[in-house]
Amino acid sequence: MSEAKKLYERIVLPAKDQFNEELVKMQNSCSHAKLSEWIDEYWAPAHSTGYEVQHCNRCDKEIHRRTSCMVCGSKIQDEKIKQFTVEMCKKARAEGRTISLPVNGTYCIDCFNGNPPAKARSRFKQITTPFPKLSAEDLKRVKRISSTLHTK
Ligand SMILES: [Zn+2]
Ligand SMILES: [Zn+2]
Repeated sequence: MSEAKKLYERIVLPAKDQFNEELVKMQNSCSHAKLSEWIDEYWAPAHSTGYEVQHCNRCDKEIHRRTSCMVCGSKIQDEKIKQFTVEMCKKARAEGRTISLPVNGTYCIDCFNGNPPAKARSRFKQITTPFPKLSAEDLKRVKRISSTLHTK
């Protein structure tokens, strides 16, 4: 390790740890009374995450995030943002749902539940994928395969 790196580790790293500790304390005790404007969030320069975020002006904590529904385009915020994960896709199938939304897209509750507003119905049809219908024979086979996988 170079002398410069040693210097960095001796001086900067402990200061970073202390900063993070005190920042968390400040954020946990803050009432977040004044919030910033909505600003676009980037994961790298010029690469938007597709979200807008609002921070507390005093402690910098992110308080709200919002984005648009991929189907109907309505603004959705915080816990109203529904994501369709790979796990959910598996679960939906097991529960007998007939369609799958693009995985990791963001959806409003209505579109997520398969009830898009009238104006977005054709878009909903475009982006969803019907699960292939399984015959009783197929279902038996799937069960047999998955049970052998689980017993290993
Ligand atoms: Zn705050
Ligand atoms: Zn929607």
